[in-house]
Amino acid sequence: MAKQKSDESPVQALERLTRLIRAGEHVGDLNPAQWGALRYLSRCNRFSNSPAALTRYLGATKGTISQSLIALERKGLVEKSGRPGEARSVALTLTAEGEKRLAGDPWNVIDVLLDPAGGKGRRKFAAVLGNLLDALTVSRGLPSFGVCATCRYFREGGAPDDVKGKHWCLNYEEPVTRTEAEKICASHDPA
Ligand code: SF4
Repeated sequence: MAKQKSDESPVQALERLTRLIRAGEHVGDLNPAQWGALRYLSRCNRFSNSPAALTRYLGATKGTISQSLIALERKGLVEKSGRPGEARSVALTLTAEGEKRLAGDPWNVIDVLLDPAGGKGRRKFAAVLGNLLDALTVSRGLPSFGVCATCRYFREGGAPDDVKGKHWCLNYEEPVTRTEAEKICASHDPA
């Protein structure tokens, strides 16, 4: 079979690619907002797993997020709990079943499609998309949701003797582990 080449402009290609993958988010018992919530909760740090942060990240309405969380809780994919010391604050956690569900994320196909591009191609792709996203969020005054390494509050190795994490966050005044430092944060402020 002859290889098909797309003649679309970058904008058209991105729009169609997104539309085709998004169509897969309607198959099964989840919808796009619920998939978005599962993804976000698998990537965010412990300071950012709240309904308000999720709402800001997805750029959705409070009502949509509230309904999505009720549905995800009912399906056993997300759990709500209290946050120690914050009486009215809710912490959201993916259940083991929620983690498992992400293995079937329709967006995983991008990883497969990127395989032939190799490591260099992936880095280029990530850089181009990252730049586009940064430009859009800055121009609209949206939160960056970056990771600790690029945050002005991060002090690498700032808590060498703390058993809860060797790094330090000046914003939350809490230690941060290496694994957590690689997660996205609702309070990220570019350095
Ligand atoms: S250093 Fe920045 S990104 Fe990391 S936890 Fe603190 S506020 Fe969030």
